[in-house]
Amino acid sequence: MSLKSRLVGTAKRQVKETLRPVLQRAMAPSRTSIPASHWGLEHRPGQGLCLEGVPLKELTARWGSPLHVVHLDALKRNVQRFLAVPPGRAGGAEVYYSYKTNPVPGVLSFMHGLGVGAEVISAYELWLALKLGVAPERIVYNGPAKSEDSVREAISRGIQLLAANHAEELAVFSRIAAEVGRRPRVAVRVSTDSGWSAQFGTPIAGGAALRAFQQARASGHLDVVGLHAHRGATLRTEGELTGFVESVLAFTDTLHQELGQDLEVLDLGGSLCTPTTEHIAERDWRLNLTFFRDVPAPDPAASLSIDRYLALVVEMVESHYARRGRKRPRIFLEPGRAMTGDTQLLLARVHALKQGEDRTWAVLDAGVNHAECVRNEYHQLFHVERPDAEASRVYTLVGPICTPGDTLYHAKRLPELSVGDTLAIMDAGAYFVPFATSFSFPQPAIIALDGGKERLLRRAETFDDLVTFDAPPAEPARLSG
Ligand SMILES: *Cc1c(COP(=O)(O)O)cnc(C)c1O
Repeated sequence: MSLKSRLVGTAKRQVKETLRPVLQRAMAPSRTSIPASHWGLEHRPGQGLCLEGVPLKELTARWGSPLHVVHLDALKRNVQRFLAVPPGRAGGAEVYYSYKTNPVPGVLSFMHGLGVGAEVISAYELWLALKLGVAPERIVYNGPAKSEDSVREAISRGIQLLAANHAEELAVFSRIAAEVGRRPRVAVRVSTDSGWSAQFGTPIAGGAALRAFQQARASGHLDVVGLHAHRGATLRTEGELTGFVESVLAFTDTLHQELGQDLEVLDLGGSLCTPTTEHIAERDWRLNLTFFRDVPAPDPAASLSIDRYLALVVEMVESHYARRGRKRPRIFLEPGRAMTGDTQLLLARVHALKQGEDRTWAVLDAGVNHAECVRNEYHQLFHVERPDAEASRVYTLVGPICTPGDTLYHAKRLPELSVGDTLAIMDAGAYFVPFATSFSFPQPAIIALDGGKERLLRRAETFDDLVTFDAPPAEPARLSG
């Protein structure tokens, strides 16, 4: 490095270090954490954070670390909210949980037992739903990559709804339906202006979605009963929800007028937020990285709740159809993150502390290998043993896998840490488990907490598990010569 670039580097670092405290104070976000009581956690003196009376630190002592903990009571409450009939309405919605969000059989079966169906997007997930004993009429099959075998299985079993992701898929459905000799209940997935499009759904704009419905009706082998629209982009405000639902409802009028197509099923997909997590804005992320400014915490009270979401959806659909004097369709919802996101937490331990010039690195036994979402979403973090100790020190929390990308929190103010301390990463119930990798370290166990009792849902991976699919080593290779 030249003298000049070294001087510039030093000057930059000095500017950052001088500005850090000033900016931290001047630009401090109004909310930097969410109270533990929000999740039903309780601080008991001498025991640290407890859930249903069970000290979290004892869970890692008994079951190992890292550890996923599913809070069944919280999950039950979310299920009840989704399945409720909103006040003043004749009916509510039918709920199909998005399997990919947290495909843990113990979690899925628990929800099925309470009356939730399965929303699957792959041949594997369809197989899993059937294996878990979900009745075919409680299964919705979506996704852009359905194998022909799985479509045949879905049609032969008579599943509730088979949604064509793109118009080209309708020809496959038709051919297989003719072979099987059974008419599947089909929906066409559409995309609106406000959500994902790309490989997902057929756009309403420009008439492609209307043509797809025309094609489906002309097939002769399909029972066209539904419209499917999953926004993809997270719904956090009433405005986002009403804008989305209005554009879908406007399209149902087009279907009625242009094709005489009335819908038995209106499937509005998922996308409702978890109130306590939020994508970290680019600016907040940069300020945290450079000036250690705290990442602002979302305000759960300002987010669309499950109750409000359901009430608005049902009201909008009911009044739309009432005004037109037509029967309202059945409403299907496919929640993922809003159902399970805030009902699971991940416990991790401080494995090592490394002192740097301007911060301390805390190396945890869980990183992006088990908590990928924490990279770009706000996730509340608690010190399990000393939740109320003053957050006096800035740490960079990294995971165990050997890449600089394995950083969970770039600059996090926490109580003084010691090796062996336990941390709780909240809202681990959506997209943590399915995105996890066994990169150098096996997967953690998953337990359920059920009325103060612990139950193993999935044991931790062992080293043997990691090589169980490999063929035995061949004869040792020799270098010739
Ligand atoms: C992923 C997915 C969902 C669930 O999405 P969330 O944002 O987690 O609610 C629902 N429907 C479909 C078709 C999906 O692909």
